Amino acid sequence: MPEYIYPTYAHTASDQDGTWQGHKDRTPPSVNPGMDYACAYGSVVVAAKAGVIRVADSTMGGSGGRLVYITHPDGDETQYLHLSRIDVTAGQTVTQGQQIALSGASGFGSDRYYGPHCHVSLYLHGVNVDFQKYVNITDSHGGGGSNKEDELSAAEVAEIKAHVTAETNRLAEYVRRESRMRLYKNSATGQFMAASILSGRYEILSGQSEVDSLVKNGYLEIANGDAATPQIVDDLRWRNIIAKCPVNIKAIAG
Ligand SMILES: [Zn+2]
Repeated sequence: MPEYIYPTYAHTASDQDGTWQGHKDRTPPSVNPGMDYACAYGSVVVAAKAGVIRVADSTMGGSGGRLVYITHPDGDETQYLHLSRIDVTAGQTVTQGQQIALSGASGFGSDRYYGPHCHVSLYLHGVNVDFQKYVNITDSHGGGGSNKEDELSAAEVAEIKAHVTAETNRLAEYVRRESRMRLYKNSATGQFMAASILSGRYEILSGQSEVDSLVKNGYLEIANGDAATPQIVDDLRWRNIIAKCPVNIKAIAG
């Protein structure tokens, strides 16, 4: 088992920064550099390594939104930000791979301040480092144990890695496109709705100002490609969109 595993199914950073270094070099500089893994809202988030929950904070007021910090036995720490739900409490012991939360987009008091992603920070003895360089490494201490890659030829390893990279990029692109909410307008009532069929999330929006702020933050994709006029749907189509969303969410719309 690697020392650190990926906390989400997504293994590539979102396109905003692409790398830990890019995250660190933001203007102004990021106070907590990490990897931003784009993943559908509500995706399972697991502990990258066994440890004890040091912080489980649902107050969501700061830039990190809902967050969980795990202290590991060697004193290192992983941090998971912008969560939509937290499944652990401070002081709780967790195993590697144990579900700790659901991913989200929370920050600054809003449940969707950002586009949906999971931010992961790694601190080695208090120093913030590039998590991507440590995740899924089976022999990070240079110690014994066989590495399965040794049994394959270099060409075979390269072919497998290229395949995995291509598949990962394809999935990441799909998630980036489909987890973003689309904007609809009901021609009968004038109501706006943001809906993501992939994540099963949708909401009736309060009005034009909420639409504008979601578009500005890159959270909303205008379905017909025109930012000024959202896709207008009639009553029947509107109901069909709602009908595709999960039953538990459907109740909110009434
Ligand atoms: Zn981040």
